Amino acid sequence: MSWENVRGQAAAVKMLRGTLASGRAAHAYLFTGPRGVGKTTAALVFAAGLLCREPAAGEPCGRCESCREVMGLRHPDVHRVEPDGDVIRIEQVRQVQRQAALRPVIGPYQVFFIEPAEAAGEAAQNALLKVLEEPPGSTVFVLITHQTAPLLPTVVSRCVPVRFGRLPRDVAADILRERFGYGDAAELGAALGDGSIWQATRWTPQALKERRATAVALWDALTAGPSAALEQAQAWHDRRDELLEILEMLELWLRDMLVCREQPHGASADPSWLVNVDQRDELVRRAQRLRPAALLGALDAILAFRRQVQQNVSLRTAADVLLLDLCTQAAAAQKG
Ligand SMILES: [Zn+2]
Repeated sequence: MSWENVRGQAAAVKMLRGTLASGRAAHAYLFTGPRGVGKTTAALVFAAGLLCREPAAGEPCGRCESCREVMGLRHPDVHRVEPDGDVIRIEQVRQVQRQAALRPVIGPYQVFFIEPAEAAGEAAQNALLKVLEEPPGSTVFVLITHQTAPLLPTVVSRCVPVRFGRLPRDVAADILRERFGYGDAAELGAALGDGSIWQATRWTPQALKERRATAVALWDALTAGPSAALEQAQAWHDRRDELLEILEMLELWLRDMLVCREQPHGASADPSWLVNVDQRDELVRRAQRLRPAALLGALDAILAFRRQVQQNVSLRTAADVLLLDLCTQAAAAQKG
């Protein structure tokens, strides 16, 4: 594993590589960013770089015994602190204090990962603060957090911040294809994952395609008129979360139809523009007879619905209105 494995995080990688190359590591780092964007991988590469016997320009060699042990999570100088149940307990932090006072076993440093740092309560964080305030010379702490809000400002201020952003869609799609075998569902997974591999892999490629089929079936059912819309409203009444997911799928489907419709050579639509890459022919076929204005109207209706759900408007009423709205647009879209 090397920095190449930390994709789409150029700024964070540049900074950490620079630190390794300079040989001057700080005592504590705070890796922040959404779950599933490469923070843990970066922490491992960083630890390998600190402990590698033959690092070159901030890059761990990946071959020495030390590198292999870090990557295999069995290096005696790398300590991971993870929640015991839901929380990191004060006793776990006291153990860290005792361990940090010892010398490293084989490497120049002891490295402590604390992940996710926000799992430590106030008492545990105060205990951690004591070590961060007077760190033993050869320790490096990497606090990994998905949300900094629960961390004490005094803890945050002791750490060098390293920010990780959401992954660009193409990078996420590549990762899903190469490491998770998503094949032609990779773009769809990346679009729904919103720049987080953790979020994207909540659905298997098969589940993604099934959900999409449900979304397309809903759209098709709505073209049949208002009574069909009311039937659908009935069917979705008690499935709020599922409906929101299906609507996310429907948005991507409508978006792709617009892309096909608006491209000058619909039939040869560039697949790299599409999220539903594997359905290109079907999208092109459907798009030929569609009115873009109605598709935009449908997308607007979904957006308005999403806003209402966030404001806790009665879901039943909102869903009824949405489905009737979509039904009007779906029927209008077919007329072109
Ligand atoms: Zn090495």
